[in-house]
Amino acid sequence: MSILDAIIVGAGPNGLAAAVTLARAGLSVRVYERAAQPGGGARTQELTLPGFRHDTCSAVHPLAVASPFFRAFGLAERIELLTPEVSFAHPLPGGAGGIAYRDLDRTAQALGRDGRAYRRLLAPLAARSLHVAEFTGSNLIGIPRHPLVAARFGMSALEQGSPLWNARFSGEAAPAMITGVAAHAIVRQPSIVGAGAGLALQAHAHAGGWPIPRGGSQAIVDALIADLVAHGGEVVTDHEVRSLRALPPARATLMDVTPRALLRWAGDRLPARYRRALQGFRYGNAAAKVDFALSGAVPWADPRVAQAGTVHLGGTRRDIAYAENEVARGRHATDPYVLVSQPSVLDDTRAPGDAQSLWAYTHVPAGSTVDQRETITRMIERSAPGFRDLILDARSVTAADLPEENPNYIDGDISAGAATLRQLVRRPVATTDPWRTPLPGVYLCGASTVPGPGVHGLSGWYAARSALRHTFGIPTLPSLAPA
Ligand SMILES: Cc1cc2nc3c(=O)[nH]c(=O)nc-3n(C[C@H](O)[C@H](O)[C@H](O)COP(=O)(O)OP(=O)(O)OC[C@H]3O[C@@H](n4cnc5c(N)ncnc54)[C@H](O)[C@@H]3O)c2cc1C
Repeated sequence: MSILDAIIVGAGPNGLAAAVTLARAGLSVRVYERAAQPGGGARTQELTLPGFRHDTCSAVHPLAVASPFFRAFGLAERIELLTPEVSFAHPLPGGAGGIAYRDLDRTAQALGRDGRAYRRLLAPLAARSLHVAEFTGSNLIGIPRHPLVAARFGMSALEQGSPLWNARFSGEAAPAMITGVAAHAIVRQPSIVGAGAGLALQAHAHAGGWPIPRGGSQAIVDALIADLVAHGGEVVTDHEVRSLRALPPARATLMDVTPRALLRWAGDRLPARYRRALQGFRYGNAAAKVDFALSGAVPWADPRVAQAGTVHLGGTRRDIAYAENEVARGRHATDPYVLVSQPSVLDDTRAPGDAQSLWAYTHVPAGSTVDQRETITRMIERSAPGFRDLILDARSVTAADLPEENPNYIDGDISAGAATLRQLVRRPVATTDPWRTPLPGVYLCGASTVPGPGVHGLSGWYAARSALRHTFGIPTLPSLAPA
């Protein structure tokens, strides 16, 4: 039997990024995926009625567009990315709310007296959004390649992540917009980690935009698999890996799984110090998601919201901070933060005729079994009266259900590891090569490693780089450019 060069466990975007990189280096690669459909958090499926195509998890891809991996891969040349003029909207009940146009000046103009302050905060970051992406996509150890951008970014995150976060604003809309994006991180508000994650996304909102792929996130996965197969690799689906010993022989094994899975599969073979580091890795609070099949467009009270691919709900900065801090204390918020993705605004492949598909999720304590369908419906209805009457079908997934769909989302933690200051650097260990494990030829390559969650493929790319260097003696990364 010939020995494979590399086995990848898990066909999420990071596993596939690793697989593509290794196959491009001329190595034989096989990917094992437990689900019937590859893609992990970047799948698109008919989850409600026939003809309604929903993104199982990720929907919006500013991180992919800015990612050094996907830029090297030429993603924008391989799939159609639809970029809305409005990156995200943040309606406020009884008020105008904020509209994040891709055009920063237009955004600032619509914010009235806070426009100048908003512009001052975001213009330097948006103008250098790719350098921001390089910094936030790194392991933060060592001197950043663009130290001035990193310093500016750090100062802004310190300001917006501290109790002084309101100092530059006097109205409600601008701070609500910033907190609505920071809340993606599922952390206490204000917090430096939340502000950092939010400001990076917000810089992209006013630079490359917040695109959605025509046909859904699956288009990204399909492009990765097509490249992998074209370079001799293969994906085996419906194949759950239960132990490292059960795998066929290979020179390298890269695992798109959590540290908890590695502990289960090889804990007894790991040096005590590394084992303790994995045992100390913390998982965060969770998301509960609802997919809606709608008979028509959402009747947003503010018609500008209808142009946005993404909508943040939950009220003012104070309201969202209160709700997120309730979750951080282990409680369900009464009027929670809700993140809405409405791809049908741009993509007519997601639903038949005039119908629309829409997903929304809210944050809940880890492991929550509470069905959030009614809460989410009520929160959308608050800014779009009549929404409820459009619902043809809905599918609700609780935080406790999420691990059945994907074991990487432990207790519904969609980030595969809590976003804490410590775990920005210790993900899962604080070294210059956190992807390499002490087991020869074994690497972690998923979102539990640097640089964390999101469809950017960077964890997989970096893990493959480490494997190329340490297992295969190949010092340089192969070209990933489209043929
Ligand atoms: C509801 C939701 C919304 C999100 N929205 C966005 C968004 O809009 N934009 C964005 O950038 N990110 C978003 N994310 C985050 C993003 O989806 C993830 O961070 C990303 O998918 C992580 O990629 P990954 O390859 O590390 O892991 P995953 O995508 O989780 O893939 C891991 C794969 O490994 C497989 N696997 C696990 N264990 C085994 C095993 N034992 N044997 C075989 N296979 C196994 C899993 O089935 C899965 O296919 C969202 C996530 C969720 C859940």
